[in-house]
Amino acid sequence: MQLLDGRKLAQKIIRDLKKQVSRMKKKPVLAMILVGNDPASAIYVRRKYVFCEEAGIRSNTIKLPSNTSEKKLLVIIDKLNKDKSVSAIMVQLPLPRHINKIKIIESIDPKKDADCLHPENYGKFAQVDESYSVVAPATPFGIVKLLEEYKIKIEGKHAVVVGRSNIVGKPAAQLLLNRGATVTVCHRHTKNLAAFTRQADILVVAVGKRNLIKASMVKRGTVVVDVGVNRVGKNIFGDVNFPSVSKKASYITPVPGGVGPITIAMLLWNMVRLAKK
Ligand code: NAP
Repeated sequence: MQLLDGRKLAQKIIRDLKKQVSRMKKKPVLAMILVGNDPASAIYVRRKYVFCEEAGIRSNTIKLPSNTSEKKLLVIIDKLNKDKSVSAIMVQLPLPRHINKIKIIESIDPKKDADCLHPENYGKFAQVDESYSVVAPATPFGIVKLLEEYKIKIEGKHAVVVGRSNIVGKPAAQLLLNRGATVTVCHRHTKNLAAFTRQADILVVAVGKRNLIKASMVKRGTVVVDVGVNRVGKNIFGDVNFPSVSKKASYITPVPGGVGPITIAMLLWNMVRLAKK
């Protein structure tokens, strides 16, 4: 078994981005919006800030109370859209329930949409690839970069994706499909999940349930990408039972140190692309 080291690849990508940024006349500037006090969101925003610093990207975080109205948030985004010094905008999800997430996502100028969530970017990406959309959904794009870094063939393989969210499952399936895999997508209503996961040459799990995937649910030699983040006290676990599944897998991502760092590196990649455009 070999580990798919997301930390190592993230550092390599950030080193390269840093070089690119140092050569850019107009440097990328990120505006991050954090609404409310969700501790996990605060950690993510802080990590993005640190990674931006490493790459020489300036980032400002706008922290808003959880009772911020949708109207006020829309006004702030409109200002950032018009602000020529800001090249990328990110709104940390999830948002408080009283704010319509879709409305907020659609209010971000697609030319500043660092998360590739705006339907214009997402649609272009799904139809062709990142060459058309400029940006790419960071987590799935990071997964594919990780597979490519370890020279894992995607074309002709059976990829099984567990989870169908708009930020991970669906775009991961689309990316793998675009690269020639035969793709099965599983979700909450899938009957007999193990019957599908056992067929996977490449298994991507993005659910948020610790130990959902056990050794009996994978075939020997499979490639496992564990996207899940489950916090237990100060520790983080994925969705895959690592000790047992790693004994059968040919490659597997650790949690932490797998998909997490590579996701942030690809967000930075998006920011540099937006600033260059
Ligand atoms: P999400 O929006 O909650 O989606 C979870 C998906 O899992 C849904 O499609 C759901 O199916 C499916 N699901 C739930 N229970 C299931 C079951 N028993 N069997 C099969 N499928 C099941 O979550 P997300 O945003 O995609 O994130 C998934 C996980 O990845 C979370 O732990 C999140 O924290 C983590 N994550 C990590 C990174 C990173 O950078 N490492 C980035 C993003 C997310 P239905 O659609 O049918 O409800």
